Amino acid sequence: MNVEDLRALVRTIPDFPKPGILFRDVTTLIGDGPGFAAAVDHMAGRAQAARADVIAGIEARGFIFGAAVAARLALPFVPVRKPGKLPVPVLAIDYALEYGTGTLEVDPGAVPDGARVVVIDDLIATGGTALAAVELLRRAGGTVAQALFAIDLPDLNGAQRLHDAGVPSDALLTFDGH
Ligand code: AMP
Repeated sequence: MNVEDLRALVRTIPDFPKPGILFRDVTTLIGDGPGFAAAVDHMAGRAQAARADVIAGIEARGFIFGAAVAARLALPFVPVRKPGKLPVPVLAIDYALEYGTGTLEVDPGAVPDGARVVVIDDLIATGGTALAAVELLRRAGGTVAQALFAIDLPDLNGAQRLHDAGVPSDALLTFDGH
């Protein structure tokens, strides 16, 4: 299945979680066996081309794609978690959301010094979440070789913000709008 075939498997829900947002729902993509397998294959190919040593995934939907890619490449998987979940002292970062702030945490021992990390999430919008994860993974000792997504919303400029932070980004699909 080629990448463009995956587009039809993404469900679009208008006005979720609030008015004006077009929610790009990957539940229907992961709910399609061949579609999910193809998405993971394509992402794994790109992570391999970026010479990943470690795959990191951002909670929660980034775990679905990230862990599958890590297993496909037999690479270690590092979870970038929401607060209060890891049972060890953590590195933490607060970041701005459209309304309020979010926090992400990582186990500082999870990333070998200098390891090339490919960080995965389902979707990049403004890039705020991915940038926070990049900063944490760098503080943990990693070199972030690539940020990889199933979906990019280029109108929100997240990929550009990652590029400005020195991180190449890539996505299987792009969708117009917010
Ligand atoms: P951002 O930090 O703005 O790049 O937002 C990215 C995070 O919010 C990802 O974890 C996405 O799962 C989620 N997200 C943001 N906008 C959307 C959207 N339009 N559809 C689905 N998920 C979204």
